[in-house]
Amino acid sequence: MKHSKFKKICVFCGSSPGKRSSYKEAAVELGKELVSRNIDLVYGGGSVGLMGLVSQAVYNGGRHVLGVIPRTLMPREITGETVGEVKAVADMHQRKAEMARHSDAFIALPGGYGTLEELLEVVAWAQLGIHDKPVGLLNVDGYYNSLLSFIDKAVEEGFISPTARHIVVSAPIAKELVKKMEEYFPRHEIVSTKLNWKKEELDYSQREIEPIL
Ligand code: AMP
Repeated sequence: MKHSKFKKICVFCGSSPGKRSSYKEAAVELGKELVSRNIDLVYGGGSVGLMGLVSQAVYNGGRHVLGVIPRTLMPREITGETVGEVKAVADMHQRKAEMARHSDAFIALPGGYGTLEELLEVVAWAQLGIHDKPVGLLNVDGYYNSLLSFIDKAVEEGFISPTARHIVVSAPIAKELVKKMEEYFPRHEIVSTKLNWKKEELDYSQREIEPIL
């Protein structure tokens, strides 16, 4: 059994399976990689799309799965069954704060608007110094090539600093990605002190949380 410096990783991914079988295979492979490294999963809850595949793979491998889900998304016909532990939260903002609080790192598999929004928020939080947890992009079959080119363009045009470019770690396969994330260290200058942010984030995420199941 391999050891990892991460105990829990939060995975953002499509609520759809995507058209290519390689996306589904990558979700299962990532789940198995977490299991092989003794890492638990935090995700958005439910069994739809790639979210279902990664959570089932981690659960089947005997690791803990935490699904953080806003009450409005809880009806089973929207998200399907969640394996493992479910935490109900008030809204999407609280969900992200909770997912971040419970994880040591973040990985985005292919996905749509929801995945992009979650990914870019944790990247922006890293830039501000709200956390210093690694953020990985699983670039399955080049799905994220255009996003990576866009980030390079933003660096070229002076909107992202070259050191902040390193916040996004990417690789085409799960094993390589987790290895790179293990080696990650922040190189960018942060804007504010961590202590102030930590307090703010914690205050927010502790409002109105009811564990269920
Ligand atoms: P998308 O990439 O647009 O499919 O959105 C996926 C991301 O948004 C996931 O990481 C979830 O956190 C959240 N999300 C979107 N749709 C759902 C859903 N039906 N059930 C649970 N979470 C969802």
